[in-house]
Amino acid sequence: MLVVAGALLAVMGKVQQAARRAQIGVVAQAAGWVLLLASSLMVPGSWSDRLLSTLSMAGIAGGMAYSAVAFDLWCGRLATSRAPAVIAVVMTLGYGIGFDHYAFRVGWANGWLTLQLAMVAAALCRQPLVPVGRWRWLLVTSLLVQMAVTACRGVLGAFYTEQFASFFAPHPANLLFALAANVTVVMSVVGILLAHRDEAARELERLACTDGVTGALNRRAWMVESVEIVAESQRLQLPLCVMLLDLDHFKQINDTHGHETGDKALQLFVRGMHAVGGERNLICRYGGEEFCVLKRGADLAAIRAYDDRLRAWLVDAAPRQLGVTLSYSAGIAVLLDQHDTVEAMLRRADSLLYSAKMLGRNLTLDEEGLAAQIQ
Ligand code: GH3
Ligand code: MG
Ligand code: MG
Repeated sequence: MLVVAGALLAVMGKVQQAARRAQIGVVAQAAGWVLLLASSLMVPGSWSDRLLSTLSMAGIAGGMAYSAVAFDLWCGRLATSRAPAVIAVVMTLGYGIGFDHYAFRVGWANGWLTLQLAMVAAALCRQPLVPVGRWRWLLVTSLLVQMAVTACRGVLGAFYTEQFASFFAPHPANLLFALAANVTVVMSVVGILLAHRDEAARELERLACTDGVTGALNRRAWMVESVEIVAESQRLQLPLCVMLLDLDHFKQINDTHGHETGDKALQLFVRGMHAVGGERNLICRYGGEEFCVLKRGADLAAIRAYDDRLRAWLVDAAPRQLGVTLSYSAGIAVLLDQHDTVEAMLRRADSLLYSAKMLGRNLTLDEEGLAAQIQ
């Protein structure tokens, strides 16, 4: 376990919050077992025996508490459970105090450890909040095996002390324990490495789908989702609209107030797009200072209302938060029929956006609006 702990630190490279907790967990548990073995070299019952043994309990239970936090984070739970950490503290204190009584301390420590392992395994069985791989079943299996062996040692130590006099007693439970330890260490490490890879893949996926400046979806990710939403709307015969928006005279904002203000303006604009619309809107940074929103279930009236709200929001928020006024021009395309596509809608919206610019900017056009303007 010590070798594995060292190897994990050496090979995992750049780690995030969860993987760091898992590494600390394995190192602490390995240190705990080393201390436990070291304590058996001391005079039984001496203060050094008591100190090393108590520290070893802190390492084993504390390490598991750290691992529990890592597993919670990997499953997308940010409010991680404190129970395993509380168990680690309570168990260690009770063990240190009752150290002189062998049956008590073995029963006490293994009882609490069994409960802790059960809680960690149960937490892993709960539905994760993010998509995760099958590594969690590897960890659950490993935890259940450890739990069974730990419970067994607890019962034997507490109630059959004669036969189970020490960690080294030639008892089948100790043999089983040694075997299980080998298997579970390997399973846990493979589980941890797979979870770590999952986490890294999720982060890469997020980076590949979002725009770094505004946090909105990028065009590629938006297109992939839009195609599916359009197909669904066509199947269910629900209305759907796409609006393409381009900030007016944005170059002037950059030239007059600097690129930093320009970036803040882009971020503000995306905040506004989210603030005035429902969560089901699909928003992306189409490129430069152009944005795109797909509103499912929205007819022309609904998207015009969205446009009105966004303009009103900008009139209020931009001077206050940015110190400059911000306006945009936009084109709206409505889903026509079963043969319509996202690409065709974008082309129509783009051409209307171009007309809005030609007609003096700060204007949103749809087909009807353009006809009215021309008359
Ligand atoms: P129009 O009203 O015709 O759209 O004029 P405009 O100035 O908005 O359009 P133009 O295409 O001439 O300029 C767009 C500017 O957007 C130029 C580019 O420097 C700026 N821009 C694009 N991406 C970013 C970015 O990420 N940050 C900042 N600060 N500026 C950006
Ligand atoms: Mg532009
Ligand atoms: Mg522009």
